[in-house]
Amino acid sequence: MDTTSIKAFGTEAADAALGEMGIQRRKVTDKDVEIDILYCGVCHSDLHFARNDWGFSVYPVVPGHEIVGKVKSVGEGVNKYKAGDIVAVGCLVDSCRSCSNCNNDLEQYCPEWVGTYGGHDKHLDLPTYGGYSESIVVDEHFVLSVPENLDLAGVAPVLCAGITTWSPLRHWNVGKDSKVAVVGLGGLGHMAIKLADALGAHVTLFSRSKNKIQDAKDLGADAVVISTNEDEMAAVQGQFDVIIDTVPYVHDVNPYIGTLNTNGTLVLVGYLGPLDPMLNTVPMIMGRKKVAGSLIGGIAETQELLDFCGKHNITSNIEVINIQDINTAYERMLKSDVHYRFVIDMASLKS
Ligand code: NAP
Ligand code: ZN
Ligand code: ZN
Repeated sequence: MDTTSIKAFGTEAADAALGEMGIQRRKVTDKDVEIDILYCGVCHSDLHFARNDWGFSVYPVVPGHEIVGKVKSVGEGVNKYKAGDIVAVGCLVDSCRSCSNCNNDLEQYCPEWVGTYGGHDKHLDLPTYGGYSESIVVDEHFVLSVPENLDLAGVAPVLCAGITTWSPLRHWNVGKDSKVAVVGLGGLGHMAIKLADALGAHVTLFSRSKNKIQDAKDLGADAVVISTNEDEMAAVQGQFDVIIDTVPYVHDVNPYIGTLNTNGTLVLVGYLGPLDPMLNTVPMIMGRKKVAGSLIGGIAETQELLDFCGKHNITSNIEVINIQDINTAYERMLKSDVHYRFVIDMASLKS
């Protein structure tokens, strides 16, 4: 199949800095949409994947799965989009389209789902490369519409940070009578606060950082608990219906389980791997409490979220950077110094 060479920013190895490189994209096929990328959010998963934290990265890695852009061209069979439309692409660019998960709008749980980067482009027999690039070619099913009223840079993080927190909030029926807690105030955490607040819930943030208290309240949190303070933790025992835990690295989740109410659920969305220390089942058994996980969201649910954000005028709090600043941004992300999502202005790749 024909390919097009484009400019991208990525890395050849786990211990190498990101830099400019050339990649191949497939040419537009019947159902494809070709998108010029305007903005791309920077997710902590980009850093994990660039540095092979999870052990399954395939190099070269071009990260980026919070993509907003303008349609450049479409295949003959495309009827949802036309050249000039403002569209978005999140973490998924393909799936089998026929398994029970795909049939239930849960493409993210399809055994054959294809990630926007680090996946396998079936058309090309090549790895997929993400949004730190000039353009991307995606099947129309995996392309989303962006509400016209939203700032284009600010909406980019909705495509991952937003949907990853929205999906569990919706699955566990969060609404105006719910008490929700969020662990960690970074990209996912700040979207979780905004979305849970917009759903009408009472929202508490668990953070290690006293200097994020005012920001959390400005984002919509009703309360902040400093997770390293035993008295503050003791004061919120048995309170929460749902906790969204966004911490990226191994950490002790047991202290949070005590803060769930009977039937409450702790949803892990951040850390991927075995827990250490292990789970203590006592508080779980004594209160029918659950520990769960959740992966991004399906395409229909992501469109539902974009439309909700349009209706409620919700975007991410962002710091716009040039692509040449990405390595510094990663170092700041490691220090939890993100307020609260970096978004790359992809015009900088042309300079
Ligand atoms: P982020 O912006 O770096 O935020 C993470 C926050 O967690 C930090 O701001 C910090 O908040 C807290 N934190 C960081 N290190 C910690 C540690 N060692 N112990 C306790 N707290 C810590 O990251 P993000 O982009 O939100 O991503 C969070 C995680 O979610 C990443 O691991 C990412 O790969 C994962 N993720 C999962 C999915 C999914 O589908 N499940 C989707 C996207 C991302 P405080 O300063 O407030 O404590
Ligand atoms: Zn992400
Ligand atoms: Zn499937």
